[in-house]
Amino acid sequence: MSRELWIKAGSVLAVDPKASVKCPECGEADLAVFDTRAGKDHVERHMRCPKCGAYNALYENISFD
Ligand SMILES: [Zn+2]
Repeated sequence: MSRELWIKAGSVLAVDPKASVKCPECGEADLAVFDTRAGKDHVERHMRCPKCGAYNALYENISFD
């Protein structure tokens, strides 16, 4: 299990959602990222590998106060 690598990927993508982050599972493809709204001030950031199909999601706070 590569949970720490997913967390690392998530923290990079939290700063720059367009960053190229290699898949934590296979290390061969860049993760595809998309967000869905989760309430007023959060999004779910979904990360999927187009190569091996690995998937993870993070809950992000997007309020800027
Ligand atoms: Zn992969």
